[in-house]
Amino acid sequence: MLTVERRRFRVGGVVQGVGFRPFVFGLAQHHGLAGFVLNDGTGVVIEAEGATIALDAFAAALRTEAPSLARVDVVEMEQVGPAGATTFTIAASTATGRTALIPPDTATCDDCLRELFDPADRRYRYPFINCTQCGPRFTIVRSVPYDRPNTTMAGFPLCDDCRREYEDPADRRFHAEPVCCAVCGPRLTLPLEQAVTLLRGGAIVAVKGLGGWHLACDAADAAAVARLRSRKHREDKPFALMTTRPAVLAHIDGAEAELLDSRRRPIVLVRRRADAPVAPAVAPGSPWLGVMLPYTPLHHLLLADFGGALVMTSGNRSDEPIAYDDDEARERLGEIADAFVGHDRPIHRRCEDSIVRASYPIRRSRGFAPEAVPLPVGAAQPILAVGAELKSTFCVARGREAFLSPHLGDLDTELAYRAFRTDIDLYVSMLGVVPEMLAHDLHPEYLSTKWAVEQDAVLLGVQHHHAHAASCLAEHGETGPALALVFDGTGYGTDETLWGGELLRCDLTGFERIAHLRPVPLPGGEAAVREPWRMAASYLELAGRPVRFERWTLVRESLHVNAPLSSGMGRLFDAAAAVLGLRETVTYEGQAAVELELLAADTAAEPYAWRFGDGAELIAAVHDDLAAGRPRAKIAAAFHETIAAAAAAACAEAGEPGTVVLSGGSFQNLRLAAATRRNLEALGFRVLTHRVVPPNDGGISYGQAAIAAAA
Ligand code: ZN
Ligand code: ZN
Ligand code: FE
Repeated sequence: MLTVERRRFRVGGVVQGVGFRPFVFGLAQHHGLAGFVLNDGTGVVIEAEGATIALDAFAAALRTEAPSLARVDVVEMEQVGPAGATTFTIAASTATGRTALIPPDTATCDDCLRELFDPADRRYRYPFINCTQCGPRFTIVRSVPYDRPNTTMAGFPLCDDCRREYEDPADRRFHAEPVCCAVCGPRLTLPLEQAVTLLRGGAIVAVKGLGGWHLACDAADAAAVARLRSRKHREDKPFALMTTRPAVLAHIDGAEAELLDSRRRPIVLVRRRADAPVAPAVAPGSPWLGVMLPYTPLHHLLLADFGGALVMTSGNRSDEPIAYDDDEARERLGEIADAFVGHDRPIHRRCEDSIVRASYPIRRSRGFAPEAVPLPVGAAQPILAVGAELKSTFCVARGREAFLSPHLGDLDTELAYRAFRTDIDLYVSMLGVVPEMLAHDLHPEYLSTKWAVEQDAVLLGVQHHHAHAASCLAEHGETGPALALVFDGTGYGTDETLWGGELLRCDLTGFERIAHLRPVPLPGGEAAVREPWRMAASYLELAGRPVRFERWTLVRESLHVNAPLSSGMGRLFDAAAAVLGLRETVTYEGQAAVELELLAADTAAEPYAWRFGDGAELIAAVHDDLAAGRPRAKIAAAFHETIAAAAAAACAEAGEPGTVVLSGGSFQNLRLAAATRRNLEALGFRVLTHRVVPPNDGGISYGQAAIAAAA
């Protein structure tokens, strides 16, 4: 006779909202076990009763056969007394604890897509179709455990048909919390046919997505795109596109195709095809296009009916946080959009689209958040790291897990500051932590710093470039020591000047500044960031070369009143771009550097003889070459190669340790990153670059958290 025993399992990780209970139910049936499964605030609790051999198989399968969206971190098991159970049930959730992890929002799955376009299906063309394997999660969850009453679907009671599916263990919508249909679920505020007609006529249509509103228009319609640019006050920064046929727009390699198609559905930067049917104003002068595939059923219907590619840009003015509340969207987007395709399923939290290149993330947001990034050293107490200012994010650390927030935009407006505070509250309450330590940037004028110092918690000020370096180390699971080349536009230094062309020797607990670009005056302060010609003038003057910019006679005076010192690599790129006549002013951060990289393209060039440090000598070389009539592309290429070679030589001079991390926004420049890596590897260094968090300031909060945890 078989012995019957009963075991209690506690499963932690991403196990709610991923079809885990139905999976456990099926598994128990398969192994002939009785008992129950339920969600609580910490994960999934199972009690299973049956033969020992069956229980062993069941226990193993909890990990090995878990649903693809799940991430099982821990399975705890204990023996309990048999209860004589004869059936297996999904029991009511309990609300104990608040540590269950909410999964990211997930793109519509293939099964749901088939039903969406099947005229015989009862959800044919229903824009909110979803199942246990797809649909909204993070953006609709108000609290854990993840049950319908704790989501923004609470106001939609299930109809009989949906309830039957929800309660049928054999149905793929068994316990799918956002399940709904045209009878019982959310509805659009504008019929899709109307939206499509408007789009075809060149209109700008606001479309409610998962974590906020998009502004859409016909990507091939130059006038519509121009209208969107002027209404959105966005002059040159590229717009993202949504399409079902990315290969028509761009040359896509295997890694890019995989990213595009992944359930995270980020915007992927891909190489534009010369014959792409896209208005030039979508991405002026750029060989790259930001492309994403539709990720909600509403997108799929819209794209299928419209036929071509749509511009799908965030519903905001440039660099502001994305609008997600319906009233707010109508108010803020009222002057931009000609029509609104909304619906009555509320968005609980904002989450802007993610942007990636095949080799690194540029913005880690929708589809990734709130997935934890591991920390190499666990936090002894809950930590909140508040990030920097541009591309703002914050990060909450709990034990070995760091929860990086979605992208918030630039934290220099009242609107963004409000979003920052609201989102921190939502995040902290979702994770059930009370932060005891706050990590912040050293810049006293950042709103994130100002907020942090007002809070009642232990404070840790983290130098900006140390945070960049730490973010790269930590995402590789390392603590250092290492050398770090950290190149960006601006970061506050410990000497109260602005840094940004740094060679550090560091670990998670501290750093030493080994080499840096020579500080140069920024004539007019912030104005010099918006007007690269000022940097060119500043550098040319230091280099003893003629300054031919007309306004210099006036602006030069600012050297005596407002000219903070900066060692920023971004400013050196600005200066080179302006000397080469690429542009004198920019309309978005990093624009001049992007254009300098495009000019250099794949042109081969030898580096100038330059020792890392005095940027004026390098600008002098650029100036003199230009005067001598050398092609500008050659000079731009030589400029990139010079910085890479000189930075690697500076590392060699520092000698130890043998690992170099590359971080900071300047390393989004593919040519610079590749050349620097090549030079370093030739010298025998091991090189670490970003794969998980962005090299730009969007990754700063994670680096701050890693440093605070190790402190
Ligand atoms: Zn689905
Ligand atoms: Zn229904
Ligand atoms: Fe930075």
